[in-house]
Amino acid sequence: MLRQFELVERVRGYDTAADEDALNRAYVFAMMAHGTQTRASGDPYYSHPVEVAGILADMKLDASSIITGLLHDTVEDTDTTLEEISGQFGPQIAQLVDGVTKLSRIELQSENTRQAENFRKLFLAMSEDIRVLLVKLADRLHNMRTLQFVKKPEKRLRIAHETMEIYAPLAERIGMQSLKDELEDLAFREINPSARGSVVERLRYLHEEGGNIIPRVVERMSETLSEADVTVEVLGREKRPYSIWRKMQRKNVTFEQLSDIVAFRVVVETVTDCYRALGVIHSAWPMVPGRFKDYISTPKPNGYRSLHTTVYAPEHQRLEIQIRTRQMHEIAEFGVAAHWGYGVGEERAALSDGRQYRWVRELLEILDHASDPEEFLEHTKLEMFQDQVFCFTPKGDLISLPRGATPVDFAYAVHTNVGDTCVGAKINGQINQLRTILQNGDQVEIVRSSVAAPSPIWEQFVATGKARSRIRRFVRVKERDEYVRLGEAILERAFAQARCEMSKKALKHACGALGQRMADDLFEAVGRGDVTSMQVVGAAYPEAVGAGEAAVARAIPRDGSAGDHAIPIRGLIPGMAVHFAVCCHPLPGDRIVGIVTSGKGVAIHTIGCDTLQQFEETPERWIDVSWSVDDETPEVHVGRVDIVVVNEPGALGTITTLIGRNNGNISNLKFTNRATDFFEMTIDVEVRDVRHLTNIIAALRANPSVTDIERAKL
Ligand code: MN
Repeated sequence: MLRQFELVERVRGYDTAADEDALNRAYVFAMMAHGTQTRASGDPYYSHPVEVAGILADMKLDASSIITGLLHDTVEDTDTTLEEISGQFGPQIAQLVDGVTKLSRIELQSENTRQAENFRKLFLAMSEDIRVLLVKLADRLHNMRTLQFVKKPEKRLRIAHETMEIYAPLAERIGMQSLKDELEDLAFREINPSARGSVVERLRYLHEEGGNIIPRVVERMSETLSEADVTVEVLGREKRPYSIWRKMQRKNVTFEQLSDIVAFRVVVETVTDCYRALGVIHSAWPMVPGRFKDYISTPKPNGYRSLHTTVYAPEHQRLEIQIRTRQMHEIAEFGVAAHWGYGVGEERAALSDGRQYRWVRELLEILDHASDPEEFLEHTKLEMFQDQVFCFTPKGDLISLPRGATPVDFAYAVHTNVGDTCVGAKINGQINQLRTILQNGDQVEIVRSSVAAPSPIWEQFVATGKARSRIRRFVRVKERDEYVRLGEAILERAFAQARCEMSKKALKHACGALGQRMADDLFEAVGRGDVTSMQVVGAAYPEAVGAGEAAVARAIPRDGSAGDHAIPIRGLIPGMAVHFAVCCHPLPGDRIVGIVTSGKGVAIHTIGCDTLQQFEETPERWIDVSWSVDDETPEVHVGRVDIVVVNEPGALGTITTLIGRNNGNISNLKFTNRATDFFEMTIDVEVRDVRHLTNIIAALRANPSVTDIERAKL
């Protein structure tokens, strides 16, 4: 295991400004926090974060990343809190550790890799700082290097598949080729040991057969190039078994036909040298047609730059050669990490807090170099992920939603039926409101009820088109339903008053006369106020018109008691056929009357409301209504009070406490006048009925801070 001073020296080796003291403290902190915990291998647990920090140091990452590597498991696996880390190492480190912890929790949730692409997106979206992702990748690399110690075979296999399908592609996406290669090969070892075994066996045989060609070719090539005055370093490297296996699969060739088991790299100083070296090589050995690629003038989207060529070698069949500058080489090996390293030298002093944003910018810059449209699309997705949130179903499936999405959107994304019947949501095990904005990685469980229905209010907060259109459609159907029911009730009463029978025949007659297709359409028109009940009675029984008119005029009992033919109403969904007037805020228990307005349905007013004077000349618009309150499922109504309070410390608190103690819920509070000695306010309180509101008013009136209170009239 890497020792404390070795780690610090390694970091100081490439970053002399690194905070040595913080590195030392983090090392000790991790050791203490993990205490006597052990790994599956039997090693002390803290050896793991130390090795992870070592991997990050090999990538030449900044001290913050190394410290994060040391601390990355403390919050998840020990008693350590983020507050402690923030206190000891500052908020930035705490944020990074928090990011890694969140990624680790996702890993624990997912039992399958069916949705690999979604998971990769989730990881990118959650790694707001690219360093979070790099620490996570280093963490995974060390876990893969020690995978053989995990006892359960099915667990080893799951981890290997996850690595192959999620982590290795992520490493590739940010240009970290060598990390990707190693992750893949370690996973390959677990997933298909016999295939890997046969590749390794063939390699061994080749070595014995032809000896190791690598040193001979390296020597020969170095000589030829330096004769031509190009300063180079030639590296020969055997490909990893997994990439050999993939090539055999992809190109459907046998091992013997494979030309590129060994790859050679010619590393030079400048771009000009690259092309000069290429010329020297092509004139020394014949090139294989169709294998030359210039990724220097046209880099790959992940930032990769090199010249690729294959030549017929003097004593061997074919040689695959990559020519690049030293900087290109390091970027190819370490991706964004190397990119960052190059920046540090030039402008170290200028870098401090802006550093983390530079990372993201650079990554995006690299991705912007994408040349072909398909690759470009692939990489611009990275930015798009920032507009998305990814949430889990209780079974671990990922649902992708736009940012700002709520549990209602989630429910509709799962299934239309789930959306239509949702009544609540558990987010990460906690009951939450349906309007809660979902966060990346949230686990969402929708609470459903078979008798529930979409609410028009949802339309105000949903973020997806699917949810919105579904709610609208439902509201339209439901609205028509309510108008039909209301119109029918109005007509039954009107026919009864006129002492005429509301027979099918009579209705059919009226439909014909009033241009309605069928009875329901007629009912709806009456409910909406487009057709009056008198018109219908008149059309059905032309001889009875006078009687009908007289009956309607008599229908509203002026003493305010509900008449015999009163239409029972319940608090209906706002915006539908029936709504409560905002001028008088009627409450169950109030004496009420309905006023029909064409296109707006019925407004319910209290019998004493001043607004009613405007309708004295149009008695046909009046409807007799009564409350029908169901005690089992009490509904909430808004009552409004005007109140004058003494301006003294704590007065407002007392008022709100008193309302709360009487089970009232304040839904709105507005100051109408603020003098030095008094406050005048209007408060909207959600109550069950008029008695409930009266109780609250009485309680407030008894309080010395309240000088005046009454139910609002207008
Ligand atoms: Mn770990």
